[in-house]
Amino acid sequence: MAGAVSSHGCRRLLGPQLRDLLIQKHCVLFDCDGVIWNGEKAVAGAPEVVGLLKKRGKRVFFVTNNCTRPRESYVQKFSRLGFKDVVQSEILSSAYCSAVYLRDVAKVQGKVYVIGCDGVHKELREAGVPFVEGETDVPGATIFDCPLDSDVRAVLVGYDDKVNFLKLAKACCYLRNPDCLFLATDRDPWHPLPRGRVTPGSGSLVVALETASERKATVIGKPSRFMFECIASQFGVDPARSVMVGDRLETDILFGSRCGLDTVLTLSGVSTLEQAQGYRDGRTTDKAICVPDYVVDTVADFLPALAR
Ligand SMILES: [Mg+2]
Repeated sequence: MAGAVSSHGCRRLLGPQLRDLLIQKHCVLFDCDGVIWNGEKAVAGAPEVVGLLKKRGKRVFFVTNNCTRPRESYVQKFSRLGFKDVVQSEILSSAYCSAVYLRDVAKVQGKVYVIGCDGVHKELREAGVPFVEGETDVPGATIFDCPLDSDVRAVLVGYDDKVNFLKLAKACCYLRNPDCLFLATDRDPWHPLPRGRVTPGSGSLVVALETASERKATVIGKPSRFMFECIASQFGVDPARSVMVGDRLETDILFGSRCGLDTVLTLSGVSTLEQAQGYRDGRTTDKAICVPDYVVDTVADFLPALAR
């Protein structure tokens, strides 16, 4: 049941129940980081699960807020980690969907000022959306004397490991124009790294710009519905026959619920069973929509249900 209510949700999925769920569903959406891989290591069993789902005639899509890579680089990563036959059209990243939004929805007339990594630049280039990279100034330039491009009509901000004060300041200057669009790839607050370290996510940069510009960004990535709309419009996917599998309650599960999908939390990533149950049993109703319908330890739990 999509949009779980408080007395439901967080149901442990075991072999027979998983088999029943998969019989009902035609389409499975997976988050990537923390679900089918962690860094450069595939979650055990994940390549087999994806292969078997396809063999059983299911549509499989990968929906990721990670905007650092272009989709062609994801195709290579899937192949490197042992996933067979994953093609570019099955991968929807927040970088790709931001480019689609700027081209097809906003139809922006002019350039996009980008704070982001290579993934965003490549997707914009491929979509034919003109843009200005944040990092084009001579060393030592400051916000007092750097040039501003009068053709900029949108600011797009995403994860950028080379962000600096001048990039943020220039974005703020462009956002002074109320006709300049303000887009964010996603609001992910932080990302886990090996050995207990973390890195700030796109969301931390978005909030910095929102504070300085006193504006709110339009967010493309999960939990916004736009990434599912991209899939639904391109592939005619029915939300009632689709399921979202993710590791983060506030992004993946909320995204699935908002789009009318059944949701499965996998415990191989960021969110814990205790957090999910806390949202289910808590008194704050605003978190009820982040409660997953089902819970599995890892996607490998799908394997018995797919075996014949
Ligand atoms: Mg994740």
